[in-house]
Amino acid sequence: MNTSILVVGSYEFYQALPKQIRQQTSFSVEIATSVDEASSWAQIRPPDILLVQASVHNSEKFCQWSKAQPSLTYSYCVLVEDRFEADLLNCTGEIEQTAAMLENIADAYVHFFWLKSNEAQQIVNNRLLLAHIQVGQRHCQKYKELIDKNNTLSTIALADPLTQLSNRRAMERDLPAQILESRTNTNPLSLLILDVDRFKIINDTYGHLVGDRVLQLLSYRLKHNLRSQDLLFRYGGEEFVIVLNNTDCQQALFIANRLRRLIEEQVFTLDSALNLNITISIGSACLQSLDDRGGITLLTRADRCLLSAKVAGRNCVMGCTEQLCEPKKLAIAR
Ligand code: GH3
Ligand code: MG
Ligand code: MG
Repeated sequence: MNTSILVVGSYEFYQALPKQIRQQTSFSVEIATSVDEASSWAQIRPPDILLVQASVHNSEKFCQWSKAQPSLTYSYCVLVEDRFEADLLNCTGEIEQTAAMLENIADAYVHFFWLKSNEAQQIVNNRLLLAHIQVGQRHCQKYKELIDKNNTLSTIALADPLTQLSNRRAMERDLPAQILESRTNTNPLSLLILDVDRFKIINDTYGHLVGDRVLQLLSYRLKHNLRSQDLLFRYGGEEFVIVLNNTDCQQALFIANRLRRLIEEQVFTLDSALNLNITISIGSACLQSLDDRGGITLLTRADRCLLSAKVAGRNCVMGCTEQLCEPKKLAIAR
């Protein structure tokens, strides 16, 4: 893809840029004649390179602003000096000015007195400017590669390879955010913990590969029977967590029981050869005002309810509404 350049400057400035930029064969170029126009454009379509004419009103402020924008972190900002100042004509003045610009304002600072310079000087100027553009291209390329790799690593870190569901790390990241959103909007929030009943027997009888396949099929079935706002995670071995947004205690119990029946009532067929009847037990808890914002007390309550469901004979749902829950009170019969 072409490198995108946003030129911030007058039309005259654009006309004086090297023809390699204006021909737009290796670059896609947009022009903004004021910093206001440039900042609107840069926020909508963040460019790879910003080429800013120094004599444009507030050019330095614009460069500083661009450095502070998260969406422009990889944009390489070249400030092109066209203000003719006598004290810059000596070498020390120019070096000092360049250092000040690089310290606080731009990634590159180029002197470009094109109105005053002769042809030979212009050739040198153009070469330097194009060299800076190349530096910007390399910088952007590396940055984008890094972002891609980072995204891939995040996806790997947050996904469970067996079931392709979000994993426990993802839940630990997402649950606090869901709790915050629920409290901000004063919406109810519930959480279910599911555990496959007697799963060890499946592994011991048919082997771990069959166990793995059951977990995949179970995940698929759960995932395709949830509402779009619900979040499903593989919490551990054969345990799953479902965060039910905008769902109160009673609705959560209803959903949990629907899922329990969905697993119990439809046989799991593996490779068209083996039919297995699976059941799950579910603990359900809903968010209370005293719950911590990380979700630990909410999870603990749901886990206690799950334990009660196991004790009560498995293939059942247990829920609680109070801080000190008494799960059996709200047990839903099989
Ligand atoms: P309960 O009804 O009390 O939950 O009994 P259970 O047999 O399901 O419970 P237990 O905790 O004893 O066994 C869970 C088993 O799940 C043990 C473990 O080997 C198995 N397991 C955990 N992760 C995986 C996995 O990724 N693949 C397979 N095949 N088995 C797994
Ligand atoms: Mg189990
Ligand atoms: Mg378990």
